[in-house]
Amino acid sequence: MGTHPAAPSRVLSSGKLLSDHLAENPHLVGQQVIDRFGLQNGHLPFLFKVLSFDRALPVQIHPDKRLAERIHANEPERYVDPNHKPEMALALSQFHALCGILPAFQVTSYLSSVPEFSSVFPQGLKDRLAAAVKAQDVGGQKDAVKDLLSVLLKAGKAHVEQKVKALVDRYNRGQISHAEGKIKPLIMRLNEMYPGDSGVFCAFLLNHFDLKAGNAFSVAAGEPHAYISGDIIECMATSDNTITAAFSPEKEKDIENFLSGVLVHPTTGKTLIQPTMFTPGSTATSGTLLFNPPINELAVMQVIVAKSQTETHHALRGPSIAIVFEGKGTIVWADGSQRLNLTRGQVVFIGQGTTVKFSALEHPFHLYRAFVEFEVNTNHTTT
Ligand SMILES: [Zn+2]
Repeated sequence: MGTHPAAPSRVLSSGKLLSDHLAENPHLVGQQVIDRFGLQNGHLPFLFKVLSFDRALPVQIHPDKRLAERIHANEPERYVDPNHKPEMALALSQFHALCGILPAFQVTSYLSSVPEFSSVFPQGLKDRLAAAVKAQDVGGQKDAVKDLLSVLLKAGKAHVEQKVKALVDRYNRGQISHAEGKIKPLIMRLNEMYPGDSGVFCAFLLNHFDLKAGNAFSVAAGEPHAYISGDIIECMATSDNTITAAFSPEKEKDIENFLSGVLVHPTTGKTLIQPTMFTPGSTATSGTLLFNPPINELAVMQVIVAKSQTETHHALRGPSIAIVFEGKGTIVWADGSQRLNLTRGQVVFIGQGTTVKFSALEHPFHLYRAFVEFEVNTNHTTT
């Protein structure tokens, strides 16, 4: 949902491109948002998606603006726009993902307990990482972990396949060390999805997350990630720039650009976005919660209107798109210009500066609303 040329939204009543409609009616976006993001031709700064997957998406990064401009200039057919693509994911069901680099001590622990993984790398590199961990040399740890990633991703396909197979065969024989107990189910699952893929070994380098419905996180430029399974709301800066390194066909991989853009910033965990109340008294099960990631182009609201109730949103200083997730209800523009009956899966665009009321009928009415405002998002509340 949005105006990206790869899959642009259209206005239902006219069949016209949403971007054309917004170009003719720029007040719906607002001059301040247009100026703030340098928007042209009716484009919106964010792209809004619902994703559902039971097989891992590619191990990927999204470029920052500089890398995006460079790869777009070099390969305009592959990287179709010059924009960066920070994104946020909000889980609608149980959501498994790999995201961000593991702490170096964790990686050294896998190197010493998983011989099949360890044997991919030269001894000198493993010694260098171990020494950097011992010396608490953070820069040295980052360099060594990045080199591990590089060796793994550049290793021959047949070579990695054989190592992954040896590991899975050992697990199938029930030979599992204590250090491998927790990660074994993930390795087996990834190998079922992509047998012998180098992405299976990425699980020894990346953090693994298991999120519940209502949990959300954001992904910064360069942060390596792979969404494994689940249903999510995804919102990102308007771009299709994804640089993949594993769990994808050979010809789609771009290892050089992946390694040049990857952010090796080891963390012990992922910071979830702590939602705040957009309307007073909101909770996880009723009212409106605001998920405001550290990304200027977007924020997302979860709107749950209880049976026969109404939820009022004050006017936003920017454009928004809402999708009905469950139930049926109405949305009324407070200036009386529009009233729409909506049901599951339907999508509305709401122009800036408009107060709207969402009303539920005989069932709770559950929507997600993505938006941008012209001010720099400064109130990022995270825990
Ligand atoms: Zn992504």
